[in-house]
Amino acid sequence: MSLLKHAKQYLANQSKYAHLNAFVSLADRTKLFSNFGAGDDEPHNVRNKPIAIKDNICTHDLKTTASSDILKNFTSPYDATVVGLLRDAGAVVVGKTNMDEFGMGSHSTHSHVGPVKMQRHAYEEERSAGGSSGGSALAVASAQCWAALGTDTGGSVRLPAAYTGVVGFKPSYGLLSRWGVIAYANSLDTVGIFGKDVGDVEAIFDKLNMHDPQDPTSLPDSTRARLGKDSKSSSSLRIGVPLDYNIATLQPAVREAWSRTLRYLWEQGHSLHPIRLPATQHALSAYYILAPAEASSNLAKYDGVRFGSRAEGIDGTPESVLFAKTRGQGFGSEVQRRILLGAFTLSAQAIDNYFIQAQKVRRLVQQDFDRVFASPNPLGTEVSQSDQATERVDVILSPTAPTLAPFLEGVKSQDPISAYMNDVFTVPASLAGLPAVSVPVRITPQEKTAEHRDESIEESVGIQIVGQYGEDKLVLRVADAVA
Ligand code: GLN
Repeated sequence: MSLLKHAKQYLANQSKYAHLNAFVSLADRTKLFSNFGAGDDEPHNVRNKPIAIKDNICTHDLKTTASSDILKNFTSPYDATVVGLLRDAGAVVVGKTNMDEFGMGSHSTHSHVGPVKMQRHAYEEERSAGGSSGGSALAVASAQCWAALGTDTGGSVRLPAAYTGVVGFKPSYGLLSRWGVIAYANSLDTVGIFGKDVGDVEAIFDKLNMHDPQDPTSLPDSTRARLGKDSKSSSSLRIGVPLDYNIATLQPAVREAWSRTLRYLWEQGHSLHPIRLPATQHALSAYYILAPAEASSNLAKYDGVRFGSRAEGIDGTPESVLFAKTRGQGFGSEVQRRILLGAFTLSAQAIDNYFIQAQKVRRLVQQDFDRVFASPNPLGTEVSQSDQATERVDVILSPTAPTLAPFLEGVKSQDPISAYMNDVFTVPASLAGLPAVSVPVRITPQEKTAEHRDESIEESVGIQIVGQYGEDKLVLRVADAVA
């Protein structure tokens, strides 16, 4: 198909699926068409492709609200590095996608423009698209764009990818620049990529994977040169099966897809190895201490003076009133909850029991992974021989989430802790900064045609592949074999 025809189809779908609420803002269409070049559509090539950007990643030409009322009028004077790199590669930014406010949530329901709603076909009851990058995932799933960027702090790319049936990749922490990305919890925040297949995702990753001097946490070239050195190149891989992930609340369809995928890989000549990641059971609690603690500090600047829309009619009042009113009105309830939680766990009376303990658990989670991976962590300390697991593996394969996409109605009445539970399998790789990807595995396997790929949101189970730090390419290779 010609590029222009394809582009027109994507834009037509933006109108057709407007009710899904995947976008916060759309680019001016008349200008867009002049940006799409002529020629044929080449697969796995970024040039002239329509790409959507999560609304917490800065663009100079569209507002960046992070789906928050407090930033509803904010337009950044510059593009984030990742957006600039995509534009340099010829991609066309078609809009900003809906999300959970500041990235806090698992269903994309906490947004000042209303929730993202997934409907696989007309008349189906609305389902959660996952969060917080639910808009980006659904925009790709419903062919409103070719690919999209999201952010993943504790699973926000992988969970929506699993629920909507697309590929969602969180690279190793520090590989993609965070300059111009609104911080939620900066020691965990990672830019991630959504696409219909692994080849598309990898094409984007290759354009973005470079050092950025503007981002102090961007990995320098000297360290990049050491990455992936020990990566297994042979065709037979050792696949780790984490026994601790076989929890009682795993839905039968999810467990079935997990074992079917493992069986398939075994038939392809890979070997399967049961592994233990004992710190996993504490990872979720540690994450929900650490992320809000960082958030409470990162969000302090939205006070109506330095950043953010100021509450009306309070000029001339003392600062404390101005700040409290602006923040009380501008932040949604989940963001307020996280700020309070974070401020508490960092307070003098609580820091030792909460924040410091959570940092220790984070270290244990990292050590769990280093113990089971065959390649050493290029950033970590050497694991002593006696500490190493007997079974050592190249990648770890598990479900991305314990359940399929839940109904939106049920999610609305859920208490916050139940929403946090969705992140149980994604959070460990975030705490350790490891590369992780979610790939869709069809519930009823069937032949895929080109039209099929473009037009339908199918019910599928997200399968997650996690690798050692810097082994991003290996993780994508396995994802490609599974998808
Ligand atoms: N659901 C998690 C949270 O609310 C993860 C969010 C994310 O990765 N941005 O913190």
